[in-house]
This record gives sequence, C-alpha cells and structure tokens, in this order.
Amino acid sequence: MEITHLGSGSRGNSVLLSTPESNVLIDCGFSLKKTESKLQKLDVNPKEIDTILVTHHHSDHSKSALRASKKWGCNLISNAETARRLEWEDTARLRIFSELERIDAGVDISLLTVPVPHDDAENVAVIACDSDGKRAAVVTDLGEVTAELISHLKNCNHISIEANYDHDRLMRGGYPDSLKRRVSGRGGHLSNYQTANALQEIVHPELHSIVLCHLSESNNQPHIAESEVLMGICDSFDGSLSISKQEGPDFSNWIGQSNPERIVA
Ligand SMILES: [Zn+2]
Ligand SMILES: [Zn+2]
Repeated sequence: MEITHLGSGSRGNSVLLSTPESNVLIDCGFSLKKTESKLQKLDVNPKEIDTILVTHHHSDHSKSALRASKKWGCNLISNAETARRLEWEDTARLRIFSELERIDAGVDISLLTVPVPHDDAENVAVIACDSDGKRAAVVTDLGEVTAELISHLKNCNHISIEANYDHDRLMRGGYPDSLKRRVSGRGGHLSNYQTANALQEIVHPELHSIVLCHLSESNNQPHIAESEVLMGICDSFDGSLSISKQEGPDFSNWIGQSNPERIVA
C-alpha cells in the first residue's frame, strides 16, 4: 500500500491510499479542480478512484466529495450523522458505515473506522488494511486519543496523525479565549505534546513510518511539531517521521519501507 497526502490543514485534507488494484481517498476537502490537479501530479486518473470515505462533515474534509463521486463514478461512504449534516441522505451512490464496521473499499483494501471525540461532529479515524494484512492509519481532528484508538494503532505499519498545535503558541496567540478552549478541549485537536505521548505508547518494531498532519498555520511550526514528537519517541522508533503540509502532494510512503519517496513535479 502507498500512502500519499494530497495536502493537510484547516484549508483542506485528502489522503490517497493505493494498492495494486484499488485507489481510495480518505476525505476530499479541496475543491474538485484542485483535487483533480493533485491526482494528476501523481499520474492517477480520477476515474480510477474506487471509493471516497469522508471522516466527518467539516468542509476541510468533505468539500468536493459528493461532486467528485458523481463526476468520477466512485463510491461515497460516510457514517449516518455525517450524511445527515451534509444532506446526502438521498444520494444514490452513498453507503453508510457503522462504527467499527469493516468496509470493502476496493478489490484489495478494506477500511475500519474508529470513533474519535471532535466537537459537534461524529468523526472517525480510519485504519486501512491491504491484502497482505499490512495496515495504515489516518487520524485527524480529535481532542483526545482514546484507549480504543490506541489499541487499533498498535497494529499499524504506517500512521498519519495530526499534530495540530503547540500548547504555548495557542495560549499566547491571538485566538479569543473561547476558541482557545475549544481547540485544546476534549472535542478539539491534538497538540504536539498529546501526539508525542500517544505515539510513545504506540511505537512498535513493525511501525516504519509516521506522518504528522493537520498542523495549524497560526499555532504550530513544522520544526516544533517534529522535535516535540521525536523527543517523545526517539528511544524506541527508528522509522521515518515526515510532515504533511497544506499544499501537497510532496511525498509518498510505501508500507514496510521507512523512507518516503519524494514526488517530483
Ligand atoms: Zn479538519
Ligand atoms: Zn473537523
């Protein structure tokens, strides 16, 4: 399985998972035009996308998902609450998943969704499994890492996880107090520190690559996120740690391989 972030942050998120027989998008939060040009950069014909899974209704994850699924003729899947919030209930090609259901998203890829706490949304983390039983996780938009999520992440060979904010920067920055409380609360986002702590618990010898994503442009910096996480895991992790920026794709991770492959434009 190959994992490529088309881009990540509050202005749009989408991750392409490719196996020999299938292409799946986790979230489709850029405009349709932008998504198609990002796929073109990867030599992927949008019509070869089998499934788009939308994790929750916020527009940085869902923006062009419905239009893309209609134009490309692919499956669109979400949970019932996300479909309700996006008014997708009458969409013919929509499939609804339930919590912890194993979803066949292509010939040789299945997805498992794990509920995570996020304000006013029924958000899920996604664990993808290929036909060799190798697993990759995509985890964004959660205020807290649950014990259930940790137990699933302990089986993964690749983990993409958000490191949204640096706690001091958020608290000293210009956000109103109510927003600071929301971001740092149980339904907000993970700080660098929370992500470092969670990874410390998860890291195992078969975890080869980690991508930090959904970094806040106001309250974080790539080098701060990277050093805080590395500090937490450097004794136990010898794979690669990369950062997905708002405008990708910049690199792909191949499961089982430590070093990411740069994408040349
Ligand atoms: Zn988001
Ligand atoms: Zn969100």
